[in-house]
Amino acid sequence: MYSFVSGKNDLVSAKSRSDGNKLFTVKTHNASVHYEILQLYNDSIACAPAGSETLAAAYANKAAILLHIRKFRECITQVDKAFKITTSSSLKVKLLCRRVQCLTALGSPDDTKYLEKVRFWLNKVDGGMKKEALIKLMSKSELVVQNKRDQNSMKMEKKNAKSMKTIAEAEERKDFVEIAYSGKHGSHLIASKDIRPGEILLVEKSLSIINPAQKFAYCGHCSSFLWDLVPCDFCSSVCFCSEQCKTEAWQYYHDVECSIMPHSSLLHVPTRGPYSQLGLRILIMALKQSGNITNLKNSIK
Ligand SMILES: [Zn+2]
Ligand SMILES: [Zn+2]
Repeated sequence: MYSFVSGKNDLVSAKSRSDGNKLFTVKTHNASVHYEILQLYNDSIACAPAGSETLAAAYANKAAILLHIRKFRECITQVDKAFKITTSSSLKVKLLCRRVQCLTALGSPDDTKYLEKVRFWLNKVDGGMKKEALIKLMSKSELVVQNKRDQNSMKMEKKNAKSMKTIAEAEERKDFVEIAYSGKHGSHLIASKDIRPGEILLVEKSLSIINPAQKFAYCGHCSSFLWDLVPCDFCSSVCFCSEQCKTEAWQYYHDVECSIMPHSSLLHVPTRGPYSQLGLRILIMALKQSGNITNLKNSIK
């Protein structure tokens, strides 16, 4: 269902967005449909040429599904990215309406300020059916602002904050678990106090990950789930969770693999597919760390 082309392409991006829209307009959604829609919009973002209106539209649609599943902060990030790119006043109105609804749900006092911005951009839209629909949308946002703050969203934010705290606590808790090695047990952990069921003991960053089937679901550098998706500016073989991961990946390996990955299935290695791509990436990282092939050969002797 997803596209696996590797360059940037307006038509491929628009097709994924339209497939996502078709699923989104079906009345009954469940979590797996939400996931499917998110992946199609991620696909659309990854394949859209940098700085294009197609990319703005993909971010805007991703914002819509994130608003639908009440991921308000993540929705605002997509709204802001689309807003920076698009020159369309009507898309700006739609985006600002989504932002207002998120701010209201999050209990932010900025929602009224953004309603003013909606009015400003609405005045720039020419009349007709489109404008009528936008006026309706703005009225809906005004109504949301007038209504009581969304208590459930506050609870959800607290829950998210709690799980982030658990990971932060686990990182601080390194002092009571120790990684050890013995002939009998191999690599193992030794804890100096009791461990509660479900307690996170260790958070470790992967050296590298290649997951072509879910390349638009998880960061190609750190494996985080892509609530926000930062595409490579040149290929659609890999996407990142943040500008930081994108920059690190470029420094460590992606500057070399970016133009090779789309053709990696042609590599003359016994195992093709993800393993050849992973091998290629690790080789690039090792070569960069060693400085040149001779140093690398000497270091592994
Ligand atoms: Zn990442
Ligand atoms: Zn790339």
